[in-house]
Amino acid sequence: MARIAVVPGDGIGNEVITEGLRVLHALAPDIETEHFDLGAERYLRDGTTMPADVMRRFGSEFSAVLLGALGDPRVPSNVHAKDILLGSRFELDLFINFRPCKLLDARYCPLKDRAESDIDFVVFRENTEGLYTGVGGQFKRGTADEVAMEQEINTRKGVERIIRAAFAWARANGRRKVCMSDKANAMRHGHDLWQRVFRLVAAEYPDIAASHLYVDVLAMRLVQAPQDFDVIVTNNLFGDIITDLGAALQGGIGLAASGNLNPGKAALFEPVHGSAPDIAGQGIANPFATLLTVGMLLAYLGRPEQEVRLQRAVQTCLKAGRVTRELGGTLRTTEATDAVLAAL
Ligand code: ATP
Repeated sequence: MARIAVVPGDGIGNEVITEGLRVLHALAPDIETEHFDLGAERYLRDGTTMPADVMRRFGSEFSAVLLGALGDPRVPSNVHAKDILLGSRFELDLFINFRPCKLLDARYCPLKDRAESDIDFVVFRENTEGLYTGVGGQFKRGTADEVAMEQEINTRKGVERIIRAAFAWARANGRRKVCMSDKANAMRHGHDLWQRVFRLVAAEYPDIAASHLYVDVLAMRLVQAPQDFDVIVTNNLFGDIITDLGAALQGGIGLAASGNLNPGKAALFEPVHGSAPDIAGQGIANPFATLLTVGMLLAYLGRPEQEVRLQRAVQTCLKAGRVTRELGGTLRTTEATDAVLAAL
C-alpha cells in the first residue's frame, strides 16, 4: 500500500496541503499519510531543520513526499527551507524537476488569442547540478577587490540521465518532440557537453523529433509560439527561469504543479508557489496548484486516470469562475476545494 510523507511547511503551505489531503483521501482512501512537523515553526521552536533519520525515512519508507511550501520572514536566512527542500533534492538525488505547463482555461492565459491546446508542454529541469550546488567561493570579501565565483557543475552522468528521462517520458506519453536548451554559444565547456550528450541520446529515439534552442531564443519562442513545444529539457538555472515563464502561460503560480523525481527511487511533489506570507492565515490562497500536484502524485502512484479526473474537475471550476480571489473569483480556499470535490 502506498504511504505518503506530508510536510505542510510554512505560510499558505499549511492551508493548501489541508485541501490537497481532502481531495487525496476522497480519491484514494487507501493511501496512508504521515505528517512531519518541519518548517519555520519547528526551527524557531527547537532549532531543527531536517533530521537525518527523517531524510532516511523519506528515501526508504514512503512512496513519495508531499510538500506545501517553505519560507518565513521570521527566518531571514531560510536555512530551514534550504535544508529541507534543497537537502531532499540532493540527498534523495531527485534529479528531475518535472513541470507540466498546461493551459486549462484560455481566459487565464496572458497571451492574446490563445487556445487551450496551444499551451501543453512539459519541462524537464535538471535538479541536482548546474549553478545551484553552492560550489564556488569568495575572495577578499567585503573589500573593493572582492571576487565571487559560482561554478556550474555539469557531469556526463547528470546531463545524460536528465536528457534520457525527457526522451523516455516523451515516448511513454505519446509526445513527439524534445527540445534541449542551453547557451553553448557562450558557455563553451559545460554546454558543449550538453550538446554532445543530447545528440547521442536523441539518436536512440528516432521516433522523437529532437531540436535545440539557445535559452534566450527559447524564452522568445515560448511567448511567440508555445504550441511548438512538447517536452523541453534544460539545466537547473535555465529550467528555474523557463518554468516560471511556463507558470505564467498556464495562468499563474496558483495553478502550477511540480514533481522532483528519481524514477523508481524517490519523489517529492509540491505546488510551485511559495509560502506567500502576505496572504498566509487568511484562508484565501488558491488550492488548485496543490490539487493538480496531488493529481501528479496519483499518476506517479500508477493511477493516471485519477489525475485526469482531478484535472478535469479543476478545469470545470476554472471555466465556471469558481475560483479564488487572485483569479478574479470570490471563493475562499476551502470553498474552492469544495467546488472541485463537487465537480469530481
Ligand atoms: P516564498 O519566499 O515562500 O517563495 P513568496 O511570497 O516570495 O514566498 P510566492 O509565495 O511564490 O513567493 O508568491 C508570490 C506572491 O504570489 C505571493 O505573495 C502571493 O500574493 C501570490 N501567491 C502565491 N501563491 C498563491 C496562491 N496559492 N494563491 C494565491 N496567491 C498566491
